[in-house]
Amino acid sequence: MKQMILKPGREKSLLRRHPWVFSGAVARVDGNPETGDTVAVRAADGRFLAWAAYSPVSQIRARVWSWDETDRIDGEFLRLRLGRAFDAREGLISSVAGSAMRLVHGESDGLPGVIADRYGEVVVLQLLSAGAERWRTELAEAVRELTGCTCVFERSDADVRELEGLPAKSGVLHGALPAEGVQIREHGLLYGVDVAGGHKTGFYLDQRDNRRRVGELAREREVLNCFCYTGGFTLNALAGGAKSVLSVDSSAGALARAQDNVARNDLDAARAEWQEADVFKYLRTLRDQGRSFDLVVLDPPKFAPTAAFAEKASRGYKDINLLAFKLLRPGGLLASFSCSGGIPAELFQKILAGAALDAGVDASIVGHFAASADHPVLLSFPEGDYLKGLLIRRT
Ligand code: SAH
Repeated sequence: MKQMILKPGREKSLLRRHPWVFSGAVARVDGNPETGDTVAVRAADGRFLAWAAYSPVSQIRARVWSWDETDRIDGEFLRLRLGRAFDAREGLISSVAGSAMRLVHGESDGLPGVIADRYGEVVVLQLLSAGAERWRTELAEAVRELTGCTCVFERSDADVRELEGLPAKSGVLHGALPAEGVQIREHGLLYGVDVAGGHKTGFYLDQRDNRRRVGELAREREVLNCFCYTGGFTLNALAGGAKSVLSVDSSAGALARAQDNVARNDLDAARAEWQEADVFKYLRTLRDQGRSFDLVVLDPPKFAPTAAFAEKASRGYKDINLLAFKLLRPGGLLASFSCSGGIPAELFQKILAGAALDAGVDASIVGHFAASADHPVLLSFPEGDYLKGLLIRRT
């Protein structure tokens, strides 16, 4: 019998339905399970707690598939879970949101380590844990069948795979990518998505509704969009009637795609200015040039993947937000985001308060941002609540 026995008292988090077993909680593993195998997780007294995927090299030694002892973890079980995740999105995301959606959001959909993003006829699958990898073939087949998509493309090349002892993998699992490239529509705007080479699975779907909100606020404003990637906030600001949008990113490839996306939508390219630069340095340049803006967007990459990086990340957030406050005209808006799981919302708010203080400006929170509805957060898994943002108005 493949099973994992916990140390006395270490069953508490599982009883609260938190889906991870950390290595320090494990007393013993029986039956020589291989990486990704299903084990029965038991309390010290032998009580059944959960079925979980075993990951011998990861600090997260097991991830829970099911709390029900009568379940059998196999292809059919995973298919039902996928179906449940797809159903959960029905009616939550309006059809005007567009043709791209996160179909599976890992732990929050009861599928630890499994991400599936739909871009029209293409579904990008990202398998991030030993358990997800173990069921790769079954998951890909079920995704194909349940969605009827023409292509399943794997992007299992995120850094976290290393923590699970898994090599990076990327490529077609089913069908073929459309020769003309992948295009999606989001809140009325078209984007080309590089599913094979772009960040994550190609696009930041979590910011869908926040991009639109920022677009609505952009009318007649001079906008600075930092960390613009393929131009999500830029396109929305232009469509929303911004006077001008200066977009900054360190990736030349992302900037090229962003400009292509502006052209795709017949937006006025003359109102768009592009800068390939390190935002940390370029904000100082703008300050030294005496530039100022009516709306600043800061959507940096993850500075703190876990709480261990929180201190260094806090300094990074404070730095860019302080500079952004200095560039903001009175009455101007700052839309500031953090997608760091290691930075909780309260800490993020404190960092911004410190940044405003040191910049010498008075400012108020006038809105909150979170991920779109296709990125649910399981109540028993607060780690799923990684994206937070504040809309701040300089007095
Ligand atoms: N707002 C975007 C997503 C931003 S992703 C959207 O809505 O789609 C973060 C971006 O930051 C990436 O494009 C990455 O190339 C860029 N980036 C990372 N570090 C940077 C730095 N120091 N300076 C400038 N850009 C950076």
